[in-house]
Amino acid sequence: MRFQLPAGAAYILQTLEAAGWEACLVGGCVRDLLRGTEPQDWDICTSASPEQTLSCFRTRGQRVLETGIQHGTVTVFAEGEAFEVTTYRTEGPYSDSRHPDFVHFVPELELDLARRDFTMNAIAIDLAGKLRDPFGGSEDIRRGVIRCAGDPERRFREDGLRIMRALRFAASLGYTIEEQTAKALRSCRAMLKQVSAERINRELCRLITGPGAGAVLREYPEVLWEFWPQLETLRHRERSGLNGWERTVRAVEEVTIEAPLKLAALLHDVGGSGCQSAAPEESAGTADVMLRSLRFGNASRKRIVTLIEHYYAPLSLREEELRRPLSRLEPEAFYQLLELRRADIAAQPQGLSEARLEELEQIRSMAERIIAEGQCLTLGDLEINGRDVIAAGIPSGPEVGRILNALLDRVLSGYVPNEREALLKMLPQIPCPAMGGEGREGAALALPPRGLNPLGTRNF
Ligand code: ATP
Ligand code: MG
Repeated sequence: MRFQLPAGAAYILQTLEAAGWEACLVGGCVRDLLRGTEPQDWDICTSASPEQTLSCFRTRGQRVLETGIQHGTVTVFAEGEAFEVTTYRTEGPYSDSRHPDFVHFVPELELDLARRDFTMNAIAIDLAGKLRDPFGGSEDIRRGVIRCAGDPERRFREDGLRIMRALRFAASLGYTIEEQTAKALRSCRAMLKQVSAERINRELCRLITGPGAGAVLREYPEVLWEFWPQLETLRHRERSGLNGWERTVRAVEEVTIEAPLKLAALLHDVGGSGCQSAAPEESAGTADVMLRSLRFGNASRKRIVTLIEHYYAPLSLREEELRRPLSRLEPEAFYQLLELRRADIAAQPQGLSEARLEELEQIRSMAERIIAEGQCLTLGDLEINGRDVIAAGIPSGPEVGRILNALLDRVLSGYVPNEREALLKMLPQIPCPAMGGEGREGAALALPPRGLNPLGTRNF
């Protein structure tokens, strides 16, 4: 087999071989080469011990790092790039679900390949292009099959993460999972309870952003229920003539490939119980708990929860109404919401409706214009501030914020322009309990009604 590899990797393989050791590319990069795609990282394995690898490159003046030396891995810098070089090894179990309890260095490549999860990941290739493929991984790659290297049950019981890795590879490569492997991953799925949240998180994000995510979610929902049992209720629901899980999967499939959007689509209806559809704030609360349980970072968790809260929020083509979601959401979040809305429409059984799509496009243009014009959307944009309110006789405290918000509300609805004079004049009309009454100059003014747009209804 002929292939292009980075000069640094070639140098490392050559150097180790010249020093009398075996050295091969192994794992993901070999799989990717055989699939005809460009590898992201180049893992090298060798019969040399970690110390022998270190001294081999140190004596040649190469920079090396003792990255994971107790697990057999050292990092070698060559031609401006870093490469991990790992001694042939077998592994003990993952009792802490993060690191193997122990590793044993072994003399033979085949023993190292046997510890690897799937046949397609258990192939090595040397500099001359000679394949070492004891499990028939290249044939499985050719046929697009994910199969455990060795007995599937045993392999999943050794490390439950492999269950998620199987689904992740199925989703990202569009491969099918071989029957015995599929059967074993279902029967061993409780093993996921013993896997750390961080490891599951990483694989889940790659699963959900894979082009084949929909098929995997349809076929293996019960695997996700192991760590997110809240998803199961969707199975008992119906929405716009579809089963709730199928409806969710379609929304995931339709939305553009960005992890927060895929996750918002997956979790948008998780609240509620039984066959009752959930209120958005309930789904947002449940999603928050679910995302925390998998240790999502604060920023991405908050964004996903916000998108779910607004999933069904009315979006109107009336400027005064459109300013409301725009005042609550950052522009990026607003455009993400539009994309979720588009995907949700496309996920309906009757497919994408041209009219609704067109309406969404008009909403997008209007939002772009509102933002470009720098219209007043937040308290910070108001032409008066807290000092002005206090100067008008309101004691400093929470009341000041409430009054500013009431003014913002009137500006958003177009009831008053965002001009200093007009706002100061409006001030006395804002009801203020702290001042002992409804309003300080007669009753509070009723706001114009907020009309509902068809896009704002649930089952449009
Ligand atoms: P990619 O890097 O493209 O996501 P990969 O296969 O390289 O895919 P890594 O996590 O980088 O995945 O792992 C490198 C190799 O280590 C794998 O190809 C596989 O041979 C082995 N491996 C990784 N995780 C496991 C595991 N949990 N059990 C057994 N072998 C594993
Ligand atoms: Mg890799």
